[in-house]
Formats: sequence, structure tokens, C-alpha cells
Amino acid sequence: QYQSYQAPADALAGKVILVTGAGDGIGREAALTYAKHGATVILLGRTTAKLEAVYDEIEQLGAPQPAIIPLDMKGATESHYRDMAATIMDQFGRLDGLLHNASILGVLSPFAHIDSASFQDVMHVNVTAQMMMTKALLPALLAAPAASVVFTSSGVGRKGRAHWGAYAISKFATEGMAQVLADEYENSTLRVNVINPGATRTKMRAKAYPAENSDKLKTPADLMPLYLYLMSDDSKAITGGSFDAQSH
Ligand code: NDP
Repeated sequence: QYQSYQAPADALAGKVILVTGAGDGIGREAALTYAKHGATVILLGRTTAKLEAVYDEIEQLGAPQPAIIPLDMKGATESHYRDMAATIMDQFGRLDGLLHNASILGVLSPFAHIDSASFQDVMHVNVTAQMMMTKALLPALLAAPAASVVFTSSGVGRKGRAHWGAYAISKFATEGMAQVLADEYENSTLRVNVINPGATRTKMRAKAYPAENSDKLKTPADLMPLYLYLMSDDSKAITGGSFDAQSH
């Protein structure tokens, strides 16, 4: 029923929510949706022009003024994440929500042909960088009255599939990271959950399935009920879960 969750217009009023990969695809839609529901969104991504376009759209909506963090998670080190966390603490004093949405597909290929350099890039952006970012942001998350961390998995993060190599392995790791965190913080104000978006009309999907007719796919907007639910206080008691954004 969370797939048809209807959020009140002010569901996220007063919340500060960081969205990674906020310049395109599902992350862009989530950032706009959170802003429309009253949140101050922090837009993180690697292409500044795309983040600026989302920033302008949010301003035009009359939603709370967002912030932009241009950051390439492929190259960022722990000190970048520590600096980022310090800036967020200075500016806002807490972080109410963290949506780990950015990830890369890498190269789909038979296991025998996995390119180690590409494998490492995928594991770094999809897993290591998310660990470092979350770790740096824990004090800010614990400074919020009820913080929500949401990771993004995939169908191949729950059941492996031929040729999905690094991406599938990284998404299993994402599910694992969320479970470890949820268990550690079970008796705290911090909750940790996972979303599997399901097939969605974005650039990543088109890269994985170039021959597909994308008109038949759900759009990022169709997924937003679950994205809103997990950031709103209505999911305060929910932690350690892994949810599908689309009903089947
Ligand atoms: P897109 O490729 O459309 O968007 C991904 C976003 O992440 C982009 O804005 C991209 O930036 C950003 N990003 C990628 N690499 C980095 C990096 N190194 N540093 C900072 N930002 C980065 O993907 P989707 O919207 O389709 O996917 C969103 C999430 O949903 C991903 O985690 C994906 O694995 C997951 N997912 C998607 C499905 C689908 O069908 N679309 C299905 C299952 C899971 P830039 O704009 O600069 O490229």
C-alpha cells in the first residue's frame, strides 16, 4: 500500500534531505518531489549544469531554496565527505534524510569478460562511496529528531542474473550495507531502508536495454509514493526493510 501512499502537501516541511544523483533520472524526480512537499533539498551530483537546472526548477516552484553539492563520487575521498558533512552541520545543524540514488551500471558482459577496472569503478561509486558518505553524515543524521537513510537497489540486487556482473554484485552489497546499518541503529532515531525502483524510464535503463520501447515503462514520477513514504514521518517506525517502488 506504500506504493499508493498519498503524502500531505506539507509532509516534508522543515526537513533537510540530501539526494545523490539529483541531476537526472529518478534522483531528479525525487529532489523535485521532496521540495514540492516542503523539504530543503541538497542536490548532489557530478554534472553541475544538471544540478543547476534542477535548482532553478525548484526555485520556480516557490519551494524552499535548495543547495548544490557538485561531487564526483568516483574520485571523492573520505576528506571530501567529512568536509561536506561539516558544511551541512554548519548550515543546517542536522540532516533529516539521505537518499542514496546515484549509481552506475558499468559494462554488462559475461562474467568471463568482466573488466577489472570497470568492476572497481562500479563497486566504488555504488558501494564504497556510499559507505564513506553515510559514515561521514552519521553525526548529522543522529542530530535530527527522526532521520531516514534510503539506499537504492535493483531486482538484480536480490537475485543474480547472467551478464549483470559488477552492477548486480554492487546492489547485493547495497542491500547488505543497509541491513548492517539498520541493525546497528535499531534502537536509535535513525532508520535505514532500501528501495528497488523496478524498470523505469531513464538513461540508465536505456543503456541496459537499448532496443526496448521505453514508452511502456513506468516513469520516475510513478515511483514517488514510496520515495515520499520512506522520507516522511509516517515511516518513522520502519527500518531494515527492502521495498519495491512498483506493484507487480
Ligand atoms: P540515471 O543514470 O538516469 O541517473 C543516475 C544519476 O546518478 C545521474 O544524475 C548521474 O549523474 C548520477 N551519478 C552517476 N555517477 C555519479 C558519480 N560518480 N558521482 C555523482 N553522481 C553520479 O539512473 P536512474 O535514475 O535510472 O537510476 C537511479 C538509481 O536507481 C540507481 O541507483 C539505479 O541503479 C537504480 N535503478 C534504476 C532502475 C531503472 O530502471 N532506471 C532499475 C533498478 C534500479 P549525471 O547526471 O552527471 O550522469
